[in-house]
Amino acid sequence: MPNAHPPRTREPVLVLGAGPVGQTAALLLARWGVPVVVLDGRPARDAVGSKAICQQRDVLDIWASLGAEAVADEGLTWDTARTFYRDRELFAVRLHDRGASPLPPFVNISQTRTEQILDACIGAADGIDVRWDHEITGIEQDATGVAVHCRTPGGPVRLRGSYAVSCLGARGRVVREALGIGFDGRSFADRFLICDIRADLPGWERERRFYFDPEWNPGRQVLIHPCPDSVYRIDWQVPPDFDLAREESAGGLDRRVRQIIGERPYEVVWRSVYRFHTRVADRMRVGRVLLAGDCAHLVAPFGARGLNSGVHDAENAAWKLAFVANGWAGEELLESYSTERLAAARENAEVTGATMRFLVPQDDGEWEHRRTVLERAATDAAAKEQVDSGRLSEPFWYADSPLTTRCPHRPFQGRPPRGEAPVPCPGVLVPDVPISVAGRPDVTRLRPLAREGITLLATGPGGVDGVRAAAAEATAAPVTALSLTGIDRTGALAAALDARPGEVWLLRPDAHIAAVLSDDDPAAIAAAVRGALGRGGRGTAARIPDQGSAGLDLVGPENVAITPTRSTWVPTSASGRSGRAGGSLSP
Ligand SMILES: Cc1cc2nc3c(=O)[nH]c(=O)nc-3n(C[C@H](O)[C@H](O)[C@H](O)COP(=O)(O)OP(=O)(O)OC[C@H]3O[C@@H](n4cnc5c(N)ncnc54)[C@H](O)[C@@H]3O)c2cc1C
Repeated sequence: MPNAHPPRTREPVLVLGAGPVGQTAALLLARWGVPVVVLDGRPARDAVGSKAICQQRDVLDIWASLGAEAVADEGLTWDTARTFYRDRELFAVRLHDRGASPLPPFVNISQTRTEQILDACIGAADGIDVRWDHEITGIEQDATGVAVHCRTPGGPVRLRGSYAVSCLGARGRVVREALGIGFDGRSFADRFLICDIRADLPGWERERRFYFDPEWNPGRQVLIHPCPDSVYRIDWQVPPDFDLAREESAGGLDRRVRQIIGERPYEVVWRSVYRFHTRVADRMRVGRVLLAGDCAHLVAPFGARGLNSGVHDAENAAWKLAFVANGWAGEELLESYSTERLAAARENAEVTGATMRFLVPQDDGEWEHRRTVLERAATDAAAKEQVDSGRLSEPFWYADSPLTTRCPHRPFQGRPPRGEAPVPCPGVLVPDVPISVAGRPDVTRLRPLAREGITLLATGPGGVDGVRAAAAEATAAPVTALSLTGIDRTGALAAALDARPGEVWLLRPDAHIAAVLSDDDPAAIAAAVRGALGRGGRGTAARIPDQGSAGLDLVGPENVAITPTRSTWVPTSASGRSGRAGGSLSP
């Protein structure tokens, strides 16, 4: 897809690693008109293995914004999560998507296929130079740029760029050590045998199955996920001394598969053995180098928080680097990258750490807790809630970020119930709703508009000129100021935001809400824009519209049917009773 901003001639940003996080970072930077050189040590893309299979809606949205809609289109969304303990089924949860997004709440698709789709987008983008066979062996920086040393088949090469985003994955030690970044955490002794099989399994196509302590893997668990093309991912927890080669040569892998699928024919597509880790870098930025994805944080895959959070890293890094590279913000914006994404990484480590304590208990107390919970879960709703097989990845909310201007009347209300989006307020991702902008037939939803720069939506009744002028005074970045009611032909936007007259909603280029302000306070608007670009103290909106105002009173027949988009997907139990899911909704 064409880049939104024409490339400018300047030193490139170096993206280290062509995994999915590096690919996403490269595409996002190029869209901002920043030239990119991507370096990877492998000779070429080796399309093996499924690895990250579950990608969440807001990540699909980022990829769709880059022309990679195929990830969502080709992916499979399962709708039933079944959880078993020993020889009986504990509960089944059906997922119903009540959101209004055109994207599914999540899809299962192999990481290999995702990388191929992103490669095609990179091939079509301007300004991205991908160089395989460049293994990074060292990195250094000075006041004006970053230099990396590479081992290539033709001998050592030194390359220079303005900034670097290190997306080297779990093996990113070369960069972390050169920058003095610690990577504390823990590794789990038990291993996980992961095998993709292709088989015809009628009735299993849209079910995720989680088996705790089945008789064919006692004391441990097995997880089965459906993927596109009749592929099933089977994931066995195995002992620390598990040896795949020995297992295969003794026919053990076939026996394991047969215990699950019986005598049906199947083919092994891929298999591997992993150890999982929980580790977080102590910084995600040192000078001109930002760390993203697995290079900065490793978590167990239950909850699919690895790649999903890496893509949010990439988006956060790309707009900030682009704003600094274009002269629209100062270097201090880059420090907010580390602040915001480190907080996200720590939350992910905490959530997956709790899951791993349930899945791989470390002491007698944790074993006893797990046994009691599982034995009660079939009949006891409270115990069911405690069955923790992973909590699906969700975007991190920047409510406490230094870039966010707090609004006393729209405080962050904490994590919403599982599967639901929070009430819109400063720090959260803005709901994606249909809009129509005069003269912009290409813009049909809010988030793509937000991703073009700094966006201000004024609810009126005052005009937007003063709002635009206040923002333009604070930044040279692209600013779009629009009347909220003018673009909200269906009323869905006002309903989703619970917008009130006299407000200005300030959106960051990653579609997070930075502030909700009063339209008659240009100084506060300018301060919030500066704050969103890292040039302000942490602010609180000085004056805000009267809290007593009712929701926006929109007129017109098309405003009658309003579908709020706060709720993304809502699980109901298999019996159809609405309620929060048990702990086993997530991968
Ligand atoms: C079994 C399993 C299941 C998972 N399931 C999920 C899931 O469902 N959802 C999810 O979100 N996440 C999941 N994850 C995590 C996900 O796979 C990772 O988070 C993701 O691959 C991270 O992407 P990345 O680009 O940061 O790193 P990587 O994919 O590891 O890419 C790193 C790149 O850097 C290159 N590189 C490394 N060192 C050098 C060097 N010195 N010089 C040059 N190049 C180098 C590598 O060749 C590679 O191309 C899973 C992981 C595993 C293991």
